[in-house]
Amino acid sequence: MLGAIEAGGTKCVLAVGSAAGVIKARHVIATRDPQTTLAEAAAWIGAQGHIDALGIASFGPVDLDPQSATWGHIGKTPKPGWTGHDLAGYFQRRLGVPVGLDTDVNGAALAEYHHGSGRGARSLAYVTVGTGIGGGLIIDGQPVHGAAHPEMGHIFPRRAADDQDFAGICPYHGDCLEGLASGLAIMTRWGKLLSDLPTDHVAHDIIGGYLAQLTHAIFAMTACETVVFGGGVAKTPGLIDRIRSGAAALDASYLPGGDRHHIAAPALGDDAGIVGAMMLAEHAASSSGVTPDRGH
Ligand code: ZN
Repeated sequence: MLGAIEAGGTKCVLAVGSAAGVIKARHVIATRDPQTTLAEAAAWIGAQGHIDALGIASFGPVDLDPQSATWGHIGKTPKPGWTGHDLAGYFQRRLGVPVGLDTDVNGAALAEYHHGSGRGARSLAYVTVGTGIGGGLIIDGQPVHGAAHPEMGHIFPRRAADDQDFAGICPYHGDCLEGLASGLAIMTRWGKLLSDLPTDHVAHDIIGGYLAQLTHAIFAMTACETVVFGGGVAKTPGLIDRIRSGAAALDASYLPGGDRHHIAAPALGDDAGIVGAMMLAEHAASSSGVTPDRGH
């Protein structure tokens, strides 16, 4: 039996199961302060019976360097109380099992790569467009780590001609992609969810255009085949079509392998994150039980 946590900014999905695709029970709790949230998560998982390992796909930033003294700690975040909190260590101590950890988007990317839209491809990016924007990247089966994890929401797109005045809401960069195209940016700019704005509202082309720029950047910089768009904003009807046509227009048939480019909604739907967390638990269980980083 394996345990899994998809830790998000507003809620945490908890699950236990026998393998990544076989979830036996699940439970959703609200994300509050770290003490309350982690205690509630550990209590529910502990009550499901013995588990061999736990996988956590977490909001970031989170320290993923297995050599670091702060591996598994949450980095600098505006979420009250979470900065510097030892997420992985808490569950290692409390549940006494090995813990596999990655970002929520790398977890979702792993799940889509192996069990969803990426089957048959060598590489996949998973982009979530919700309150914020994040992206995970799998190349040849491995989540890309290095100095840290990717932060795809914080690139700077070319501003749309009819979107020159909005300053952007990123506290660090102003008009980075997250500052311009996240759910919070859409709400701040137009006072509504994208899906609640009329289909002929200019917002649809503006947001689709910014996300098309990210997609083109991913294809151009990584040569990856598949970009999956998850998250609440990405469910807006017609948005993925706009991203697809926008990315094709930006590329102008230049990039080699363009016929293999694939832009899709998650085949696993809202389960991509928790299935990814289960995969991180599988990796943790099959490694020595000491090394948290799946042995690469
Ligand atoms: Zn930013």
